[in-house]
Amino acid sequence: MNGALHEVGAVQEAGHAAGCADAPVLRQRGQREVFCGLTGIVWLHRKIQDAFFLVVGSRTCAHLIQSAAGVMIFAEPRFATAIIEERDLAGLADANDELDSVVGRLIARRPEIKLLFLVGSCPSEVIKLDLSRAAQRLSRSLAPAVRVLSYSGSGIETTFTQGEDACLAALVADLPTTRARRLLVVGALADVVEDQFRRLFAAIGIADVDFLPPRRAADLPAVGAGTMFLLAQPFLADTARALESRGATRIAAPFPLGAEGTTLWLRAAAEAFGIAPARLREATGIAEHRARTALARHKAMLAGKRIFFFPDSQLEVPLARFLARELGMRPVEVGTPYLHRAHLAEELALLPAGPLLSEGQDVDRQLDRCRAARPDLTVCGLGLANPLEAEGLATKWSIELLFTPIQGYEQAGDLADLFARPLVRRLKLAV
Ligand code: SF4
Repeated sequence: MNGALHEVGAVQEAGHAAGCADAPVLRQRGQREVFCGLTGIVWLHRKIQDAFFLVVGSRTCAHLIQSAAGVMIFAEPRFATAIIEERDLAGLADANDELDSVVGRLIARRPEIKLLFLVGSCPSEVIKLDLSRAAQRLSRSLAPAVRVLSYSGSGIETTFTQGEDACLAALVADLPTTRARRLLVVGALADVVEDQFRRLFAAIGIADVDFLPPRRAADLPAVGAGTMFLLAQPFLADTARALESRGATRIAAPFPLGAEGTTLWLRAAAEAFGIAPARLREATGIAEHRARTALARHKAMLAGKRIFFFPDSQLEVPLARFLARELGMRPVEVGTPYLHRAHLAEELALLPAGPLLSEGQDVDRQLDRCRAARPDLTVCGLGLANPLEAEGLATKWSIELLFTPIQGYEQAGDLADLFARPLVRRLKLAV
């Protein structure tokens, strides 16, 4: 057994292949420090511009979503919380009536809403409510103007990006059927990134491309046996499973982070659609070169620096691969809430051997490992950042990586900058 992994309560897998494809994984279960899936509403409501997210939850949920999305103060927000107080089972019929009347008032006041998500949360009074039945009931009464779906953003799930996975999986069940051979890009991307990818796919020769989620409810893509889908985010296990159950096929690829990741992601799609490698190179060569030039500007600051990932966003493995291979950083520990072996296979094969891979969390033990390692940069959730900074460790909030456009060639330099900035700040403070 590998000594570095020998901890009480940990399970490990043996193996030793190129990269980290078969590297041992430290698995731990204990206290976790993560946000809940409601957080996803912050970026999802910006993406689907005629959708509304109605959290069915407690005052805590209302506070979380208000503070996480505080930036929306100047616009009429497209999310709200229906607060369900503690009540006994006899009160559940009233709760359903209340929910129907809240939704009725909302739709009367906001006729532009075309897609309404009832978002479940973890308080026990909410768990007693059957939100999928409520969504079906409301969908029937509001059709055809409004479609109502439900999903859970509960903090009982693994981590905050699962909210997007649950939301998209709910959408997949509602997509129309097609047998047409089309590419479907899955995962919320900033509009600017989506536009860039659309242009790149067109240049490569793949014109029939859909994006999930779409910008408007009316543009929900059709899926079926001809659909080839490409994940743009690594945390979409349930969505992928739902698409596969509709007959769609996943295109295995690394994720489009950095110049190399973006090229390999596009190449996987090109190969699936029988596009010649020369055409891919011709379509992507200039943009890839521009991305590599932008990355070179950050390499002097980042190369050789040691980085430690706490498990938070599920982006950790692709980020570690990008930072190690394109910027010369040295990942010490790459923690992820959930290691999806199949979806991360290409990433793990590319990630240079060396870092400890860990899945799940026992936060005190992980903090001990981090303190012992004294990394140059620690990527973690908001709750851990301040204490670690107080101990003299530079940190990067992982949630920023969901709020910032980071995918694709044109964003590669910005992505590197997100990691360089805390180090530059420290240097300035030290002068
Ligand atoms: S869903 Fe649960 S974890 Fe999330 S804010 Fe509401 S009570 Fe808290």
